[in-house]
Amino acid sequence: MHHMTLAEIARGLADKKFSSEELTQVLLARIAQLDPQLNSFISLTEELALSQAKAADARRAKGETGALLGAPIAHKDLFCTQGIRTSCGSKMLDNFKAPYDATVVAKLAAAGTVTLGKTNMDEFAMGSANESSYYGAVKNPWSLEHVPGGSSGGSAAAVAARLLPAATATDTGGSIRQPAAFTNLTGLKPTYGRVSRWGMIAYASSLDQGGPLARTAEDCAILLQGMAGFDPNDSTSIDEPVPDYSASLNGSLQGLRIGVPKEYFSAGLDPRIAELVHNSVKELEKLGAVIKEISLPNMQHAIPAYYVIAPAEASSNLSRFDGVRFGYRCENPENLVDLYKRSRGEGFGAEVQRRIMVGAYALSAGYYDAYYLKAQKIRRLVKNDFMAAFNEVDIILGPTTPNPAWKLGAKNSDPVAEYLEDVYTITANLAGLPGLSMPAGFVDGLPVGVQLLAPYFQEGRLLNVAHQYQLNTDWHTRTPTGF
Ligand code: GLN
Repeated sequence: MHHMTLAEIARGLADKKFSSEELTQVLLARIAQLDPQLNSFISLTEELALSQAKAADARRAKGETGALLGAPIAHKDLFCTQGIRTSCGSKMLDNFKAPYDATVVAKLAAAGTVTLGKTNMDEFAMGSANESSYYGAVKNPWSLEHVPGGSSGGSAAAVAARLLPAATATDTGGSIRQPAAFTNLTGLKPTYGRVSRWGMIAYASSLDQGGPLARTAEDCAILLQGMAGFDPNDSTSIDEPVPDYSASLNGSLQGLRIGVPKEYFSAGLDPRIAELVHNSVKELEKLGAVIKEISLPNMQHAIPAYYVIAPAEASSNLSRFDGVRFGYRCENPENLVDLYKRSRGEGFGAEVQRRIMVGAYALSAGYYDAYYLKAQKIRRLVKNDFMAAFNEVDIILGPTTPNPAWKLGAKNSDPVAEYLEDVYTITANLAGLPGLSMPAGFVDGLPVGVQLLAPYFQEGRLLNVAHQYQLNTDWHTRTPTGF
């Protein structure tokens, strides 16, 4: 039962082969049995899950239908869930029970999803390895010695290990696509503004975007359908109609123009990944796509610009955690300044503190022009590169990551080495574009992802290409041994 995709579950429920309650019980038992190896959950919500499952079964019994009605999922632990701990992977919010549901959570619940729990993540979504969580590192089900990617590593590990079919995640610089690549999943970061950020604890507000992590493009379409849409509570939410994503899956790729940027194949890319990328290009050519070399000349500046902008926004967003209003408060403060200092010093981990310091520095009066403003100008250049490229091609294709998953601890002493792993993903966030990572092979037994990028609001095109690829390849069906 645990091998079923969302699409298969929807069919099984519609055909009355099993109930949502039965499925929920099977998955909860599987989580209890297997998750201790992975640490992919911060909180389990068994009671809520069983009551939602029963309610979904009752709605189906009355004749209601819907692809998500009775579908078990989990939420990354930065989506606020009413009455349930929402920790953001931080000691700072270890005691925080959200007083309301995030829009994404409320929409999915209304569609009939069953919430099994809240998944582990890098503290405040900062990281590419899921090692900075206050609740401990997450392990990659493909090799328990390796990281699952971050910051949505808990969602990724749980879905890859078949503990559940799909989960929500967020992507500020790659945190949906990179863990998808490292765990053999399909993950979609939507256009900025497509999915509401209301109730999604902010890291870098101009870059953050929620999206689905699942095993197939077909399932990403189903989950995205439940997440996307205008929300008046989010001032950057875009009031554009949401297309039927599942209906977009079956378009022909005949004549589709795919651009492959020459800058992607620089020295930093593992040549074995380069070869798998070329293989995926050949596969898409067989399906009728036309390949064209393109150029993204400002890509080399993207990492430095991102690692100024994201920390700057983080330093501002995280200033609300002061030990006074909510979250962690230190013991026996001597005075107000001591309360602030120790609450923040004890509540935030090392990586979060590093970013707050970098961000506050970049925004300070004497350095604003030199760092923050400069980074914003680079951001525009990166966007302009994409706009020029999308005049010539329909999709951009390349590797999701320069290397496969690394060993736990391998990059702990060198944060910059970890930042460099984001080279292919962060440009989409700087430009606000949608991007998808799909399974495309293995290197030393570890999964490798190929990334597709599309123009604004062309999530359907990404899902279409990935689905057609998945109809003709079987990488996405491979299962990690032991799960
Ligand atoms: N690795 C990037 C960072 O640490 C991206 C994280 C994310 O997308 N949340 O900022």
